[in-house]
Amino acid sequence: MTQINSFHLSLAAALAMGIGLTLFSEKNWAQPTPSAASDRDIAKMAQEVSDTIQKALKESATLDEFRAHTGHPENVLHRLMDTQPSEAVCNLLEQIDTETLLHLEEPLSHESDIPCSAALTQKIQNHWTMTAKRHESQRKLRQRLARTSPGTKKELPKTEVVEIDTSKAEVFYRGNLKDGQIALTFDDGPHPSRTRVILDILKERNVQVTFFSKGQQAKSLPELVQAESREGHSVGSHSMNHKDLSRQKALTAQNEVIDGHAAVTAAMKPFESAAFFRFPYGAKTTSIQEFVKSKKLSTFFWNIDTLDWKLTNPAELVRYTKQQIDKNKGGILLMHDIQHQTTVALPEVLDYMAEKGITPVVFIQKR
Ligand SMILES: [Zn+2]
Repeated sequence: MTQINSFHLSLAAALAMGIGLTLFSEKNWAQPTPSAASDRDIAKMAQEVSDTIQKALKESATLDEFRAHTGHPENVLHRLMDTQPSEAVCNLLEQIDTETLLHLEEPLSHESDIPCSAALTQKIQNHWTMTAKRHESQRKLRQRLARTSPGTKKELPKTEVVEIDTSKAEVFYRGNLKDGQIALTFDDGPHPSRTRVILDILKERNVQVTFFSKGQQAKSLPELVQAESREGHSVGSHSMNHKDLSRQKALTAQNEVIDGHAAVTAAMKPFESAAFFRFPYGAKTTSIQEFVKSKKLSTFFWNIDTLDWKLTNPAELVRYTKQQIDKNKGGILLMHDIQHQTTVALPEVLDYMAEKGITPVVFIQKR
């Protein structure tokens, strides 16, 4: 609570100061330029915004907790937009550190009236171009070095197909997988550019995975869910709009499940979607879970979380994922094909699976 109050207070103070400075700059020509003080103040606010978001990330163990946090980037951006003119918001965002800016990309894409939106997107894009290049060249170098040491196993075993009888409408956490078997799963897509990158990496390594597509996304990018299927992957649904279904009225939650699955099914044609479902944020209640079962959808949770929504540094994401693979040894691994860092980290995650002799698994609906 203290954090929110001090945040609001400083926004109010900055707003008041902003007005003061405008008057001051118009009338007192002989005075020192006010821009220095104003810049300092904006820098201070940018730091506060960054601290608020970073604190929320630190305090959230799950995406669900992060989404509900007052310091979630979307909430922070809304508060800023409510209290500041858009130029001031832009001045602030231009000064924010890149690490925090990456977390603001998604909420920024929903704001039509921020004039600097394109410039910020470009800044984020430049960051990823550089990061991806650097990360890939380091990976290639490590691979070359590994090849010179004898006995290094690098090829991934062929993806194993695990058939799911969806008439049983089972609920999976580990998917009954043994140690040494991992089903890669990707949520929230398709994304207009990142899903294709993920698909190309998987194609190059001949790995098949399971996608859980958001109904709204499948509807706007049907060619991508079709490509997922054409390239041997399985596609289930992940609700229509990615609401936290445990916090919705029963009817809203049920419609999210039904509409989401119908949208994915329609977008997939002529391919078939699987009667697989995953709860947004993994958040459910007993009654909505029962409803999903009554619709003869198999539910997939996960036991290996990569935290790829949080770990924007690909090296850190790879390190954490390896650690989780070592700890769990097998099961269902969760990633998001909408995250840029995931596209950068995935080749190395596959390298690690190959090195450990882990067999990839794809869930296919038994027909
Ligand atoms: Zn999701």
